[in-house]
Amino acid sequence: MKIVNPATEEVLAEVEMAGAAEVDRAVERARKAYETWRQVSPGDRARLLRRFADTVDAHAEELARLEIANAGHTAGNARWEAGNVRDVLHFYAGAPERNHGKQIPVPGGVDITFAEPLGVVGVIVPWNFPMVIMTWGVAPALAAGNTVIVKPAEWTPLTAMRLAELALEAGLPEGVLQVVPGAGEVAGARLVDHPDVAKIVFTGSTEVGKQIGAACATQVKRLTLELGGKSANIVFADADLERAAAAAPMAVFDNSGQDCCARSRILVQREAYDEFLERLGRAVRELTVGDPLDEATQLGPLISAEHLTRVRSFVHEPYLQGSCPEGPGFWFPPTVLTHVVPEEIFGPVVSVIPFDDEAAAIRVANDTPYGLSGSIWTRDVGRALRVARGVEAGNLSVNSNSSVRYWTPFGGFKQSGLGRELGPDALAAFTEIKNVFIATE
Ligand code: NAD
Repeated sequence: MKIVNPATEEVLAEVEMAGAAEVDRAVERARKAYETWRQVSPGDRARLLRRFADTVDAHAEELARLEIANAGHTAGNARWEAGNVRDVLHFYAGAPERNHGKQIPVPGGVDITFAEPLGVVGVIVPWNFPMVIMTWGVAPALAAGNTVIVKPAEWTPLTAMRLAELALEAGLPEGVLQVVPGAGEVAGARLVDHPDVAKIVFTGSTEVGKQIGAACATQVKRLTLELGGKSANIVFADADLERAAAAAPMAVFDNSGQDCCARSRILVQREAYDEFLERLGRAVRELTVGDPLDEATQLGPLISAEHLTRVRSFVHEPYLQGSCPEGPGFWFPPTVLTHVVPEEIFGPVVSVIPFDDEAAAIRVANDTPYGLSGSIWTRDVGRALRVARGVEAGNLSVNSNSSVRYWTPFGGFKQSGLGRELGPDALAAFTEIKNVFIATE
């Protein structure tokens, strides 16, 4: 597979795609490594994860440069992502020594629970945030004593492959973390079907997520799904409109809109609609789209020619469009529509529509099969809480658009996913509770 720089269309690397037989061999290695990795003492497992985090930190700029080249991420984003990988590894390095069970009072004995690792975990990753999304699965899975096989997205395997090398350099034993680049329908599907893979963590489209869910069901295989989104940014007339309008563009256009949490629907209370649209329009025209290596760039290219064609197909009668480069690279300008496209576009396209009152805002926000994230802008605390409780989504923010912190839970309602990643309870998704009763009489 030729790996292409989406900003220049130059071939960066050629990567061999694994077939089913290679996946089987990786599973065999992971199964063997599991027998010893699960026995590594909690303190030693913690130390190895910390060393992995430190090794990532020492290579942060290299990883960021690789992501800029392979995924077209802006320099600022790519550096944040390398830092996030380091921080997530450090955070879950604290978990092996805190992976407590319970002692439950029972008559005639002692009852205790153990959080046992599952075995081999398959992590299937999309192309939009390759190294970050991979690590959200890998770090807690390893901390809990599982071994992991990562299947990166076809277009963006380079940072994942490098992270596997850095894990070995940091001292993680062979077979504990493997990266197997390959086609979704071949290598990904084999991971899902393999009877020795105990759990799948899938991040990607809702369409593929449903197929994977059905395949996992035949083996009652454990599964976490992080899928698509069509999140609402709800702006009430009593909000600080200047702040809300200034923050709204990057809440949807960051990473060129290729973000599952993108606030791709802005709902504005009718009395503030015209003013908001005008302010937003000004901010969108000022966005800098271009060379991701240029520190002033805010939006890079789309990931591929194929994706560019798909994004373009959704845009008819735009209200306004910003600018973007021409020539080589997969460029699309930030675009504002005043009608809603029901599909997840996954590009720099936002719909701005009016609503009349609180009940209507909640109804419109929920009028989608997705439920990943969203924002609420208002100065009324009671309303903020009522609307936050009314919107069917997993990650909401008030007077802010930020949804992701590695120490808080992340995941979707409805067809945006199943289960949660990150946060204090992430190990629950990578362990099985075992209850043991010991008679004392
Ligand atoms: P995709 O579903 O096409 O592919 C995701 C991964 O699944 C890739 O590695 C692909 O090779 C693999 N795959 C494809 N078919 C498979 C099969 N039959 N069996 C096993 N694996 C298979 O998604 P994408 O286009 O790479 O990513 C974009 C999507 O990801 C968007 O819908 C976005 O919203 C979603 N996403 C969700 C989150 C979240 O946390 N909720 C985060 C990022 C992206």
